[in-house]
Amino acid sequence: MSLDKFQQHFQKMPGPSFYYDLDQFEKRLQSLNSPEIKTWYAMKANPLSSFVELANQNHWGLDCASLGEVNHCLNHGVSPENILITGPAKSYEYFKTLIEKGISTFVIESENQLKWLADLKPEANVLIRFQKNDWKYQGFNVLGGSKHTQFGLSLEDWKEINPSQYNLNFLGFHIFQWGNILDKDQLIDVWDEIFSQVNLWEKELNIKTKVLDLGGGLGIPYEGEKELHPDFIKESLAYLKQKHNIPEVWLELGRYLSGPVGNYLVNIIDIKRSSGVDMIILEGGINHLVRPVFANQSFPCRDLNNNETQKYKVYGPLCTSLDYLGEFQLSKDLKPGDSLAFEMVGAYGFTESMPYFLCHDLPAEVVYQNNEFTVKRENLGPESWMR
Ligand SMILES: *Cc1c(COP(=O)(O)O)cnc(C)c1O
Repeated sequence: MSLDKFQQHFQKMPGPSFYYDLDQFEKRLQSLNSPEIKTWYAMKANPLSSFVELANQNHWGLDCASLGEVNHCLNHGVSPENILITGPAKSYEYFKTLIEKGISTFVIESENQLKWLADLKPEANVLIRFQKNDWKYQGFNVLGGSKHTQFGLSLEDWKEINPSQYNLNFLGFHIFQWGNILDKDQLIDVWDEIFSQVNLWEKELNIKTKVLDLGGGLGIPYEGEKELHPDFIKESLAYLKQKHNIPEVWLELGRYLSGPVGNYLVNIIDIKRSSGVDMIILEGGINHLVRPVFANQSFPCRDLNNNETQKYKVYGPLCTSLDYLGEFQLSKDLKPGDSLAFEMVGAYGFTESMPYFLCHDLPAEVVYQNNEFTVKRENLGPESWMR
C-alpha cells in the first residue's frame, strides 16, 4: 500500500491534498479491457487531466456531460470520435458547438434533442435513453433507481414520440438508474432485467439494437466489503450479450476506476472531548469531500500511528454541523499536527465538493506514477478566486 509514501510527501505540502495512484488507475483500466465490451471513462467521477489521458491511452472512450468536460478532453489529446455525449441538458446551441468540434455520438434524452440533432447533423450516431419505471429490483441510490427522474424517458413516452421517424443513425439504447452496486447478485439482477427488455424496446420503437449502453454503477468497497472482480464483470456481460443476442455492450464507468486510487490527506487541527465524545477537528472537511453528506456514507479513514485505537467523531473546519466526516477507530495517541488519510476518494471527491464555502484553500491534487510525485495543482488560496 502506497499510503506511507503519500504521507511522507504530504509532510511537505502546505495543506490538505488529494493523492492519486495512477499506476493503479491504469491497472484498473486494463483489467476491464475486453473484446466483449466497449468501455468509456465517465469523467465526472474525476476529470483531472491525468485520468483523462490515461483512459485515452488505454483505448477507453470518454463519456462527457458538459462542454467543459468536452473541451478538457480535446485539450488533452482525445479525438472527437472517442467522445460520447451524455447528460439531460443539451440545447440546440450545445449540439451545434459539439458538432463543429467533430463529435458524432450522442445519448438522446428528449424529443427536442432528437429534433435538434436531426436538424443539425442528419445521420449522427444516437442512443435512446430509457427510464424504466417497472423495476423488480429495489434499492436506493443517487441515480434515482425506480424513482421518477430527469434522465431519459419511459417506453410509453418514446412510443408516442416515435424516434425512428427522425433521420439519425440509431445505435440502440442507454439505461442507467442504479449506482454503486457492489453485490454480484444485485448487479446481475439489474442487468438481466435490462437485457430481457431490449427486444421489447426495439420492437415497439422499430429500432434495431446494435448497442446496449448500461451506463456505470459498479460499486467499490467503502465499508470493507468484497470488491467486484473485473473478470466477473466481463464474463457476466459476455454471457448476457450472447443470451439476448445483443451485438455490442457499452459501459460508462467512473467510480469503479478512479474511486479506489485516491487518498485525501489532511492534518488534525484540534482534538477535544465534549460530553463524553472524543472529537477530531480537521483542516479540511466537506469543503473538500462532500460525498459523506450526500450519500450518508463515510469514506474509510486511517491514521499512520498504528497504535491501539479508540472511537472518534471526525469534523471539518466549516461553521456548520453538516461538516461531519464520520465516526472512526483511530489511534489513541493522535495529537494536533498528525494527519489522517481518507481512502476511496478518487471518484466523487474534489470536484463534487464545495471548496469555496468559508474561503479556505483549495486542496492540492498530486499524482503518483512510476515512483514519482507530480503536484497537478497547489493548495490555491482564496485570493486566487475571491472577487
Ligand atoms: C455518473 C454517470 C456514469 C458513471 O457512473 P459510476 O457509477 O461512477 O460508474 C456513467 N454514465 C452516466 C450517464 C452518468 O451520469
